[in-house]
Amino acid sequence: MTHPYTDGLDAGVVRYQCCDDCGAWQPMERHACRSCGGLQLRWRDAAGLATVHAVTEISRAPDEAFRALAPYTLVLATLDEGPRVMGHAEPGVAIGDRVRAGFLRFGEGTLLRFRRE
Ligand SMILES: [Zn+2]
Repeated sequence: MTHPYTDGLDAGVVRYQCCDDCGAWQPMERHACRSCGGLQLRWRDAAGLATVHAVTEISRAPDEAFRALAPYTLVLATLDEGPRVMGHAEPGVAIGDRVRAGFLRFGEGTLLRFRRE
């Protein structure tokens, strides 16, 4: 058990937090609901479909481990459930593209990697 989000990636699902009291999704890991202040936040599995919100092409990797992947594409994608997540993506994706989550084993963990629908 490391973290619900990264454990989810290892299991092939994108997870996000949701309020048990009012049902509002949470924009990042939080301790209280952004909508009602409730403390009963629970991790849920997203269906994995998203829309690309922003795209960044990385030509120089930030560390040694990622150098093997460079150049690569990072996106901010808005899950259909509402939260926005960062992930890798296939080259050439554009803002507004519909994408589906994929999972790439990398080192000790798993990278979220989107591909076009
Ligand atoms: Zn709430």
